[in-house]
Amino acid sequence: MKTKVSNTIVATSTPAGRSPRAIVRLSGPGSVRAAAAVFEPAAALEQAASYSSIYGAVVLDNDAIRCPATVYVMRAPRSYTCEDVVEFHTVGAPPVLAALSDALVAAGARPAEPGEFTKRAFLNGRIDLTQAEAVQGVIRARSEAELRASQAQLGGAFRSAVDGLRARLVQLLASIEAAIDFVGEDIEPIEPGDAAAQVDGLIAEVGSLTEGEPPAPPKEGVVTVLAGLPNAGKSSLLNALAGQGRAIVTHLPGTTRDTIEHRFDVEGTTFRLVDTAGIRKPEHEIEGQAVERAEDAARIADLVVLVIDGSRPLTDEAKALWERLTSEPGRAVITVVNKSDLPQALSAGDEGRLAQRGPILGLSALRGDGLDDLKSEMARAARSGAAGRPTHGFWLNTRHRAALARAGEALRLARAALADELGLEFAAADLHDALKALGDIVGETTPDDILDAIFAEFCIGK
Ligand code: GDP
Repeated sequence: MKTKVSNTIVATSTPAGRSPRAIVRLSGPGSVRAAAAVFEPAAALEQAASYSSIYGAVVLDNDAIRCPATVYVMRAPRSYTCEDVVEFHTVGAPPVLAALSDALVAAGARPAEPGEFTKRAFLNGRIDLTQAEAVQGVIRARSEAELRASQAQLGGAFRSAVDGLRARLVQLLASIEAAIDFVGEDIEPIEPGDAAAQVDGLIAEVGSLTEGEPPAPPKEGVVTVLAGLPNAGKSSLLNALAGQGRAIVTHLPGTTRDTIEHRFDVEGTTFRLVDTAGIRKPEHEIEGQAVERAEDAARIADLVVLVIDGSRPLTDEAKALWERLTSEPGRAVITVVNKSDLPQALSAGDEGRLAQRGPILGLSALRGDGLDDLKSEMARAARSGAAGRPTHGFWLNTRHRAALARAGEALRLARAALADELGLEFAAADLHDALKALGDIVGETTPDDILDAIFAEFCIGK
């Protein structure tokens, strides 16, 4: 499953767009050679000791482009990916970065896939899967509390807790298997009563990892995005919700766009209604662009309010958008069927389908009918923890919770087998299942397609 890789990858690691400085990063055995092909002084780079930097120039297109650059060389295995890593810190002009990447590809590297640097760090055993996921959490953190939780996870706090459980399970299994085989020379066979007591302890511990308060709504506000196709009524709803509230222009981390924010409180919860189109909405936006922008915006949202035009039959685009926004677990979506003041054209079948994945309500942004219901629904979503992330402890994602639930279930089966005196073999089989579920969390037994899905969420260059 954990296949070693031997090719060299390249990507710009800083966000797209113009900036004073940018980082282009290489990882793999050919990093130094490829970097030397575009850098002066090349010899100094090739001979550089690990963790050293060299000031020089990136030279491209037969000297047509020459930019000052500092390269950092980190040699295997003491680098982020455990491979040879070279970073160019140079001017952040997009044409320079494109030409530099092209030249590095010509020199033997290949463009990196999303999250591939972190994936290599994981495959090479530098970090476990929970830490790889925490990298994403740190990048996306929007508050100090989220940052702290992600950093604790990055530091291995969650992994240690899971590893502690696994170690106890392994020990318990060894003594149960010794009792089954009667060959326990080194290991004391265990009494069923003792085994049951230990399983109880493990059940409680798995429970304590998953339990706790539902995540409190983020203190700095629930980031809420209005999504929908052009003309659904997003701007009208935004104005209705935000009232005369002051609009603040912000730059949201995790996106490259500036946004307009309207803050307002509902039942004691602050909402930050983010209008990603507010600054530069294309004059004649086409639907494809709208879908793309909605998805982009939804990625940073705690809560998505999907606006659908109820005065027209549901279009395929609207269905596709709804499908995509609601298929990701862990994100709250409220569907609003707008324009309730007009004759309604949504078919009963469509309405039923929309209602399957969360709350749906009719509303007229124009007249304000149903606005209070929407606000209550938003507050409810925030309170129930459907929107927002934990502000303390571990940052458990849906995958972690599902795996811990599987482990807990297997432990309960083992406990039942012991109580029913079904034989230690049955309990042992269940305990192996629990061990496997815990192994999935840290990435030791995680199937490739799940790994691919996790890393596909990352940006290119991370
Ligand atoms: P957006 O493109 O999603 O931001 O949609 P707009 O808010 O610009 O609205 C598109 C059109 O629908 C405008 O002409 C609005 O006046 C109209 N509209 C929005 N909400 C309502 C509503 O509740 N009822 C009616 N009748 N028209 C609405």
